[in-house]
Amino acid sequence: MSRLNPRQQEAVHYISGPLLVLAGAGSGKTSVITRKIAYLIQHCGIRAQNIVAVTFTNKAAREMRERVATLVKGVEAKGLTVSTFHNLGLTIIRKEHARLGYKAGFSIFDEGDVKALVSDILHKEYAGDDSVEAIIQQIGQWKNDLILPEEALQQIRTPQERTAAAVYLQYQRTLKAYNAVDFDDLILQPVKLFQTHPDVLEKWQQRVRYLLVDEYQDTNASQYLLVKLLVQGRAHFTVVGDDDQSIYAWRGARPENLIQLQQDFPSLKVVKLEQNYRSTSRILQCANQLIANNPHVFEKQLWSDMGHGDPIRVIRCRNEEAECERIALEILTQHLRTGRPYNEVAILYRGNHQAKLLELKLQHHQIPYRLSGGTSFFARQEVKDLMSYFRLLVNPDDDNAFLRIINVPRREIGSSTLEKLSQYAQTRQISLYAACGELGLSTHLDSRFIERLQRFRHLMERVRYQCAQDDPIEALRDMVLDIDYENWVTQNSSSEKAAAFRMSNVWFLIEALKNTLEKDEEGGMTIEQAIAKLVLRDMLERQQEEQDGAEGVQLMTLHASKGLEFPSVYIMGMEEEILPHRSSIETDCVEEERRLAYVGITRARHQLTLTFAAKRKQYGEVFDCSHSRFIDELPQEHLQWEGQEEAPAEVKSARGNEALAGIRALLNRS
Ligand code: ATP
Ligand code: MG
Repeated sequence: MSRLNPRQQEAVHYISGPLLVLAGAGSGKTSVITRKIAYLIQHCGIRAQNIVAVTFTNKAAREMRERVATLVKGVEAKGLTVSTFHNLGLTIIRKEHARLGYKAGFSIFDEGDVKALVSDILHKEYAGDDSVEAIIQQIGQWKNDLILPEEALQQIRTPQERTAAAVYLQYQRTLKAYNAVDFDDLILQPVKLFQTHPDVLEKWQQRVRYLLVDEYQDTNASQYLLVKLLVQGRAHFTVVGDDDQSIYAWRGARPENLIQLQQDFPSLKVVKLEQNYRSTSRILQCANQLIANNPHVFEKQLWSDMGHGDPIRVIRCRNEEAECERIALEILTQHLRTGRPYNEVAILYRGNHQAKLLELKLQHHQIPYRLSGGTSFFARQEVKDLMSYFRLLVNPDDDNAFLRIINVPRREIGSSTLEKLSQYAQTRQISLYAACGELGLSTHLDSRFIERLQRFRHLMERVRYQCAQDDPIEALRDMVLDIDYENWVTQNSSSEKAAAFRMSNVWFLIEALKNTLEKDEEGGMTIEQAIAKLVLRDMLERQQEEQDGAEGVQLMTLHASKGLEFPSVYIMGMEEEILPHRSSIETDCVEEERRLAYVGITRARHQLTLTFAAKRKQYGEVFDCSHSRFIDELPQEHLQWEGQEEAPAEVKSARGNEALAGIRALLNRS
């Protein structure tokens, strides 16, 4: 285990007041957090259940948990919370749901649910042509700034805002009626609760005796307030961050948050770390010089004694296809020649859509890879269907879930039946599901239709009963068989193979639920809680990674790569209008893009390769591209350019394949 340097030690040992560790990439900020958790438990007599560490992504939380596990014995760490902001919020809401006016088993709406609901409200009540996305974004912004609908209505300035605020009001009411929260509520609701219920706040302050926050620069207003409320009074906290890695302005984060902290906590101690332990000095000089083009709130200098290292390669490719082919072939030959494990290589890109072609090329060459982000497991239709069944089981008021599955599989319940059901439910002020069981419905609907609705309700009631009485996992498996979901999937899939794949996702989801229940350390987790946890994706991501195994080139967006490190990094699509992104150039927000490039570059330990395409196809047309301005901003003496005169793609790939066949043959012989 590495020894901490004196500054890092100072940061670990300082516990008498608020502390900010402000330092560049790879300087050991996350290491300070994990070491400090161990120090608090082992030397300060603070129990693990009174320590909370927060970070940004599930992946980062997982990494942190793993790092802590190597330092602290399992028993000592029992009850320790290492989670994302959203998971922490979920824990608080779950424990305090009654105070917030939610019933147990509340649903968490994902992006798809939110979109469906907002568009429903918008189209029912407002005929205008406002975009659903714009309204969702506006609502998110209000929520991040802790502005409730009533307040939003009072501060409208434009007609668009007026519509958005009206939709927001209706949206929030509907969520409440559905006994549901959205992602932003996971932060907003706890903050509002703490602000209005000092007794609840005090209880949580007692529980959280020491708080640690990683990637502090990316907290937005509501997350910051949550931190501030939790540490109020005692101010026992450590936050670590790097203003140059702030890449979530679009979610309300500002590098200036770091200054705010100093103002709110005048006794704040600041520790700066300047030695980088990750990258060669060439990589680091590139990162330093690039980011020097941004204005700075805090000055810091990074150095490394990891050696000079290889030059940074800049590869110009003929077009996007050649780019992906080049990367794939290079990784393959490297692997075959030097035995470098695939998982030591990461390919980073600006947007998920860039991964598609790359995936094809990797598949073509049989290179294993792992894709983080991208189309999420939870976006799959069958997973959403099943999740809706789960949601309705634990929360009968969830009308969204009801509507999604009432005809999946087909139950001959048409839109006019649903409309009448909905009218009835509205006059009775009850949920659609509850309405299905009411006698009064017979004044609105023909008995034939009522029977179909009731059959559905009986099915759900039976499963719910079985869940409570017997093994809930078994009950869910039975349900899938009962409704003959497989038949439905087969009818709605393009091939047998596709249907089998979709069914495997269904069983995988149930298995994941089972694992969540079994792995619950504290015991007593209900099926409701397990489902809520799944919605937050935490479990599944971990599951999928365990399934995939460690072997594989890692593909992810620059955003998702934050906090991670890899021996070899490729950043593809280093072009104007990709990185920096076109929208950022148009709105003059290139600084944030530069920080994104800085994050990418500083992920690399030994090798860094930047690629770009000279031509790219878009909307069926071929465009000329020019390389990113960020390449020009790097110290040219450390760059090694390649591919100025590219051979035509066909010749090149044929040549590549020959080389490949040669290597394969060699390997087979030995
Ligand atoms: P980022 O800004 O990218 O999140 P970070 O500041 O959190 O980076 P870490 O991930 O904690 O940096 O550390 C970077 C690497 O340096 C890790 O591999 C870590 O093990 C190593 N490291 C940290 N401190 C030391 C040290 N004192 N001696 C040797 N290696 C160290
Ligand atoms: Mg870190």
